[in-house]
Amino acid sequence: MDVAGRVERLRESFDDAECDALLVTNLTNIRYLTGFSGSAGLFAVMDDELVFVTDGRYDQQSHEELAAAGIDARIEIGTHGEAQRQALSTALGGVGRLGLEAGNVTWAQQRGFAREWFPREQLVPTAGLVEELRQFKDEGEVARIEAACAMADAALAAVRHRLGEHPTESELALELEWQMRRLGADGISFETIVASGPNGAKPHHQPGMRRIEDGDLVVIDFGALLDGYHSDMTRTIAVGEPSPTQSAMWDLVFESQAAGVAAVQAGVDAKAVDDACRSVISDAGWGEAFVHGTGHGVGLDIHEAPRVAATADATLAAGQVVTVEPGVYLAEHGGVRIEDTVVVTPSGCRTLTRATKDRDL
Ligand code: ZN
Ligand code: ZN
Repeated sequence: MDVAGRVERLRESFDDAECDALLVTNLTNIRYLTGFSGSAGLFAVMDDELVFVTDGRYDQQSHEELAAAGIDARIEIGTHGEAQRQALSTALGGVGRLGLEAGNVTWAQQRGFAREWFPREQLVPTAGLVEELRQFKDEGEVARIEAACAMADAALAAVRHRLGEHPTESELALELEWQMRRLGADGISFETIVASGPNGAKPHHQPGMRRIEDGDLVVIDFGALLDGYHSDMTRTIAVGEPSPTQSAMWDLVFESQAAGVAAVQAGVDAKAVDDACRSVISDAGWGEAFVHGTGHGVGLDIHEAPRVAATADATLAAGQVVTVEPGVYLAEHGGVRIEDTVVVTPSGCRTLTRATKDRDL
């Protein structure tokens, strides 16, 4: 990954954002810009200098990680808030217009910054400066997401036969997670969803003690975390013989998802991908049962820009990694969702989640 080149691209956005420096407080953005993976830090980006501030727990780690990423920043260790305030108010004193990440700074923090940390600077709210850059993955980032996706593929392959043994939702989720960790994942990407039978009608059902039965559709939505990068995949598997309605739901979502993936290409509006999925489901009369957007960007966050939805205004570009995940949810029959993570290319897309989509065990 080319971490060191990112700060220069960030600086190019300062003029439009009407700021002379940016105080980065979002830890995911800090990781993107510096390689630092700890849980506390502040990163000041000025025209000609970088200052990273953290506490004593991360003294050694911050030096190691910033050096490994090739970041030439001054590192200040402040064991308490007052020391950190002093370090940053000195570093940023006289900078003029200081940008803050408006979507990340709390009201209390903003008041502290304005009154005590930077009383003489003009504080400027900024939105999405780093998130804008994060949309476009370099080869190293795509390789990490692809490797995380491969771990999730292998984990599902190892446990899908277990559905026929009627485990509880929680047992199946735990086995999936155990397999991903065994395969080298640093953790899970988000809370695993195993939604069986009537629970499948809730798109974000939390797995519980319900035992998976014949006649269930089972929605499994999960991912692996690797070096900070996420994977995201959903498969829906029928246990026993599905009813005619369940079978029709599954076929429709499969067709819709394939249409969405086929629509992904650099230069295509994100909204058009949503349209491609949604029109298949609407034409069949189940438009009301597709209750969420079609997809989202995936990277250092499980949900990041760009959104793929009816209200999205982004145009897809090569190097973006997005999901395509239509679904149909009906209280009496359960749910079906099928999701792939793909990387956008000039001629279409490349699918990173490759587990079989087979409906039956
Ligand atoms: Zn998902
Ligand atoms: Zn997703």
